[in-house]
Amino acid sequence: MKTFQHYIDGAYVDPAGGEWFDSADPYRGEVWAKMPRGTEADIDRAVAAAKAAMTTGPWASMTPSARGKAMRKLGDLVAENADRLAELEVRDNGKLLSEMAGQMRYHPEWWYYFAGLADKVEGTVVPIDKADHFAFTTHEPVGVVGALTAWNSPLLFIAWKCAPALAAGCSVVVKPSEFTSASTLEYAALTKEAGLPDGVFNVVAGFGAEAGAALVAHKDVAKITFTGSDRTGAMIYSQAAKGIKRVSLELGGKSPNIVFADADLAAAASGAVAGIFAATGQTCVAGSRLLVQNSIRDEFTERLVEMARTAKIGDPMEADTNIGPVTTEPQFKKILDYIDIAKSEGANCIYGGGPAEGLPGGQFVQPTIFTNVSNEMRIAQEEVFGPVLSIIGFEDEVEAVEVGNDVIYGLAAGVWTKDIGRAVRMSKALKAGTVWINTYRAVSYMMPFGGVKHSGIGRESGVGAIREYLETKSVWINTSDAAPGNPFVLR
Ligand code: NAD
Repeated sequence: MKTFQHYIDGAYVDPAGGEWFDSADPYRGEVWAKMPRGTEADIDRAVAAAKAAMTTGPWASMTPSARGKAMRKLGDLVAENADRLAELEVRDNGKLLSEMAGQMRYHPEWWYYFAGLADKVEGTVVPIDKADHFAFTTHEPVGVVGALTAWNSPLLFIAWKCAPALAAGCSVVVKPSEFTSASTLEYAALTKEAGLPDGVFNVVAGFGAEAGAALVAHKDVAKITFTGSDRTGAMIYSQAAKGIKRVSLELGGKSPNIVFADADLAAAASGAVAGIFAATGQTCVAGSRLLVQNSIRDEFTERLVEMARTAKIGDPMEADTNIGPVTTEPQFKKILDYIDIAKSEGANCIYGGGPAEGLPGGQFVQPTIFTNVSNEMRIAQEEVFGPVLSIIGFEDEVEAVEVGNDVIYGLAAGVWTKDIGRAVRMSKALKAGTVWINTYRAVSYMMPFGGVKHSGIGRESGVGAIREYLETKSVWINTSDAAPGNPFVLR
């Protein structure tokens, strides 16, 4: 049994309240580690360290180029420790090692990319329309950032949030999900080795309602960046409003993956599987509503059933496993509840439809396919976050757009067609932060990612992401020695 500690001000420390909580291995269903239970006192300490680091500490006086250098070093260290971190994540989270290993090798790119941006945050000299004035803008770090992350991809979210935040000159306090804190706590040690000054990167583990709420409410936290459910996101948004904090929200989805009859059907079927059975469906971009043109619906459905049948469910550490365990027990129960709801709504379960038996731990769900789904059903409208696919038929492009957009979410969408004109029309018509044409679940440090509607506010990755952590300052200089004008009128 391993016992973890918070990481505050460059050191591992015990929780102020002296309490720890259990973390389970989702594959075996056994408690394998103790996580520190963060409270307001731990958050106070971490925020104070973060504030000092970026105001009076060395982080504040380091040049942006020097900041970038430390960030590049961190990227190198993540690369060197990729396998170890991937295995730790699999242990705590149940993600497939085959996916995690690749993800961790790619992960340093966020640090390299944003390290390169750190010294390219340039202000503007404005050719101001007032005589005898010189005016320019600068961009300054927004302040201490509170980063709250979900359990499905804890380390990826660190890169997405902290790389641009640090490039901007901010310091961070991360509160990982109570279900998967291990990898984030372990990762923290690398920030010291990379030369990030103490207090720049802090991690306080704990529960949402305790450590999470204290972080959101803290008066010295200027910006909240959150990845999680839309229900918690809305709560955090209103809580942050009380302190007029800046907020970015990466929330849930119910993404349409749309297959036209003219598509390469083998590629589309692979994309449909990538959209819903990969990561055991526990991904915000899950293509959980598969819209299939009526003329090919039966044939396409058969292909998917065959692919679901041959998917190997089992040990996430084994290279040939396709579907691993559900990460948390509440999530496991939620998925099974949604399967029951879909059945009671009249959807037709043609494959799966229950727990996968005979595996250790018991937190396995069969890949599940529903047909006869109409878009009003809860199974077509609400995020399940599991390997549960709803197939919905459509006649033509107009109907595909109408049904595709008829949901509160707008995180992602997929379109499968060989018709280039249709691909472009669909990319414009779909209300989503990301539209994938003839591909699915592709991400890059270069490409903005985020949602519209209930899927969130703001974008991560890409050049613009650094702006989420900057404030613009306008500086006016009067260059005239003339007597001042009328002080009672706007200049
Ligand atoms: P969640 O909302 O339950 O928790 C997310 C984080 O918020 C956790 O760290 C949790 O401890 C914290 N939290 C909970 N209550 C809080 C409170 N009152 N105050 C402050 N913090 C609080 O989400 P989850 O179950 O961990 O993750 C699954 C959800 O995340 C899904 O809806 C999924 O779609 C979404 N998600 C979105 C993206 C994206 O980029 N858009 C990526 C991955 C996951």
